[in-house]
Amino acid sequence: MAKYTESKCRLCRREGAKLFLKGERCFKGVCAFEKRPVAPGQHGMSRKKVSEYGLQLREKQKCKRIYGVLEGQFRKYYEKADRMKGITGENMLSLLERRLDNVIFRMGIGSSRSQARQLVTHSHFTVNGRNVNIASYQVKVGDVIAVKETKKDNKYFAEIKQMKVGAMPKWLEFDPEALSGKVIALPTREDIDIQIAEHMIVELYSK
Ligand code: SF4
Repeated sequence: MAKYTESKCRLCRREGAKLFLKGERCFKGVCAFEKRPVAPGQHGMSRKKVSEYGLQLREKQKCKRIYGVLEGQFRKYYEKADRMKGITGENMLSLLERRLDNVIFRMGIGSSRSQARQLVTHSHFTVNGRNVNIASYQVKVGDVIAVKETKKDNKYFAEIKQMKVGAMPKWLEFDPEALSGKVIALPTREDIDIQIAEHMIVELYSK
């Protein structure tokens, strides 16, 4: 499977915003974007007038990078969202939020989406009692997501058991002691805290 190989901090600098791709590191004084908030490369400091198309493109890139999704798959989210009832941009963000790797991140089991994705692909979880190792798996209301019984004694999950539940999106529940959580609603736009102008992505794709 193709994947990003560029430095994650470079992606933040390219997008001109903190994308929080490196977990705890992003909240410490070592954040590369805080130290050097300019685009990478020789011309990073130069200010160019950006066209409307350029702004829309950057917004799409930012969103793709936050969720760690490649172009082809991202476009499929847009197409699916476009076929759904409601506002296309909001539907698209809701579909992205419902990816299993994002849900594991939102529950606080992974410190970043990329770490959560690795945990999923390494087959640590069940959904409704069945093994699921597909990061893009779409959760639905009522799904119970749990750490596999055979993995619960693993050192990493033993530490998660001791964790206090932090701010959790209201569409999810998580019980650290049981290492299990539930999807109690579908995420709406107000539940999604990322700074994205999704309408610009829709404008870009509908050209
Ligand atoms: Fe982005 Fe996090 Fe790197 Fe800062 S530390 S530049 S927020 S990935």
